[in-house]
Amino acid sequence: MLDFARGSAQKQSCVTQLAKSFYADWRTRHGRMAVFQDAADPPPERLLQAIWQHQRLRRDQLRTLDGQSVRVLHPGFASVEGGPDFRGAVLQFGEAAPVTGDVEVDLRTSGWRAHGHDQNPAFCNVVLHVVWDADRAASGAATLPLRAALDSTLAELSSQLEHASLRLLPENLRGQCAAPLRDLPATALTELLRAAAHVRLQNKAAAFRARAQHVGWEQSLWEGLFRALGYKHNFWPMQSLAELRPRWLPGADSLLTLQARLLGLSGLLPAELSRRPAGADDYLRRVWDCWWRERAEFADATLPRKLWRFHGLRPANHPQRRLALAAHWAQAGNLTARIERWAGAVIPDKKLLDSLTNILQVAGDDYWSWHWTFRSARMQKPQPLLGEKRVTDLAVNVILPWLWTRAAAGKNEKLRLEIEKRNAAWPAGEDNAVLRLARQRLLGRSTLRTGAERTAGEQQGLLQIVRDFCDHANTACAGCGFPELVRNLFHENKVGGLE
Ligand code: SF4
Repeated sequence: MLDFARGSAQKQSCVTQLAKSFYADWRTRHGRMAVFQDAADPPPERLLQAIWQHQRLRRDQLRTLDGQSVRVLHPGFASVEGGPDFRGAVLQFGEAAPVTGDVEVDLRTSGWRAHGHDQNPAFCNVVLHVVWDADRAASGAATLPLRAALDSTLAELSSQLEHASLRLLPENLRGQCAAPLRDLPATALTELLRAAAHVRLQNKAAAFRARAQHVGWEQSLWEGLFRALGYKHNFWPMQSLAELRPRWLPGADSLLTLQARLLGLSGLLPAELSRRPAGADDYLRRVWDCWWRERAEFADATLPRKLWRFHGLRPANHPQRRLALAAHWAQAGNLTARIERWAGAVIPDKKLLDSLTNILQVAGDDYWSWHWTFRSARMQKPQPLLGEKRVTDLAVNVILPWLWTRAAAGKNEKLRLEIEKRNAAWPAGEDNAVLRLARQRLLGRSTLRTGAERTAGEQQGLLQIVRDFCDHANTACAGCGFPELVRNLFHENKVGGLE
């Protein structure tokens, strides 16, 4: 087991330190940091919406004003067309069957009438009124006060979430920062992106630390891994399944039992055995036999199938196959220890991806190496249960932030700096629409000066700048402070001598 509490600080690159502090200082000076104290006034409604969207809550302790427990299976999607703040949330009240409906977020219960929601037919489908604090309900929907349910202090949440965008901005205009960025030396641009990436790493790490305080380090890691396996489509049902780990893990004495429990709990087991492709019926029958014996025990926690989204999903990313992979990890029983050993090992940058892939990849699965889903035909060649792009996603979004915050909590400076080094050097992950748009707006071209982003760290830095700045300005960049940051970086010679 790796000792997270020992080690001495390594000398860090003064250039990296300079850029990091410059970025962080700028955020502080320009109000990009928390301004509240917990005991002060209520937070802005925008922050309350972000807290709900990101579920920065003690999710196992949510209770409505009338004392019913609330299980959030999906928080809903931020509305872009007016009406309730979140559409299509899936909630379970007490032991009743899950319901789908809208969620409205107001600071006070009186907002329901003050904003005219009681007269507006668009709010008929609201099933939960989320408020900051309340002593009585004002709507016909259940009322959930958040004040006592946050997973961190309001100051911390403000710092981490105040710039989290609830919706994407329209694209297609080159940004006002494009000109000053063009003047920046290539090395300075790289350092700027790495400094922004460091802020992103810290924010992700803070969420792991907050969650670990309530459920422990190992459980917080498993929840992160499941969320990442769910991608953007199925993030929330995977989170719900991970939260049930203390129930589905004990007593599972075989891989088949674990796969049956996860597939059964997910609600994704096909009900019929007939008309399946060759080989599918046999495996499905064995999974069903296993699940049939236990399903009454898990009936209260089984997810509704409609919680899952399949539209636009690549076959390789189907949640059935991802759950089968997670069952392999759980059955091995040593994933956390192997990740900890990997963190402490000496690994050249060029071997980082391969070395972590060796830990996360499984040797093979009699059924899932040959099929994308229960419905798909047997493939001609076996396919790995995890590709390299997904390993990168797991590394930058889950494993590195989790290791970093553990090292920070244990005051192991040497390990913390090693994780930062790996985060900066990790090879670039999959390109996406946000990165493509950011490159066009910020850099005036479709690739970085040196080609495509060479590292995942540079991609993460670009994403953090989008979150901190682009998501809060209009298409004309009105009021954006990023051009000023870049000009200061250049003119104040903060990066002088980099070239
Ligand atoms: S909003 Fe700011 S950071 Fe984004 S493109 Fe415009 S000037 Fe650049």
